[in-house]
Amino acid sequence: MRIAQAAAGRQVTLVAASKAQPVAAIRDLTEAGQRCFGENYVQEALAKQRDLDDLSLEWHMIGPLQSNKCEAVARRFDWLQSLDREKLIPLLERSRPPHLPPLNVLIEVNVSHEASKSGCAPEQIAPLAAKIAQTSCLRLRGLMAIPAPSPDPAARRATFARLRAMFESLRAQQPDIDTLSMGMSEDFELAIEEGATMVRVGTALFGPRKRAR
Ligand SMILES: *Cc1c(COP(=O)(O)O)cnc(C)c1O
Repeated sequence: MRIAQAAAGRQVTLVAASKAQPVAAIRDLTEAGQRCFGENYVQEALAKQRDLDDLSLEWHMIGPLQSNKCEAVARRFDWLQSLDREKLIPLLERSRPPHLPPLNVLIEVNVSHEASKSGCAPEQIAPLAAKIAQTSCLRLRGLMAIPAPSPDPAARRATFARLRAMFESLRAQQPDIDTLSMGMSEDFELAIEEGATMVRVGTALFGPRKRAR
């Protein structure tokens, strides 16, 4: 399929962005072999997780995280892709149940400066990574970003390339990181060509968003 083609032999993980998609649509995708799902709203995700309890799925929190939702994320998710401030780290750490493996964490970077309210400044990556490395219940896996949509493919490519460079310089400090999550329905092929190891795709998989449930 299109991901495999753009990846040209590299391993790229597909996270199905299932916000505002009904449980039945998620179930259909699992029957096609999909295991990783990304959700933006904790309440919505918890309800879906209950309905899909019979399946062994991997849940990624990809939306902005409020501090009062850290406990639920630490308890119920496998990945947090949107860690963007230090304050969240102790909240997550104290709520991760000891019988679970460490929560996989991506630092979300705001690469497009303007509008976007989520994501840390690039200068914050290294200090955040150092804090995560001091914990035992959080495992830093890499970076995530949601670049502002641009009609110009060259500008998008340049943004993805900048993220890749940030990822490589973080990896020089933290050699265990392995995940660069960038690219959505509109631009995942471009992102993969620029080094994404994980893409988050919603509408291209599910069709237009409906209301959940
Ligand atoms: C909704 C969403 C996606 C998927 O967007 P599509 O354009 O539907 O593929 C990816 N990442 C995040 C963080 C999202 O909120």
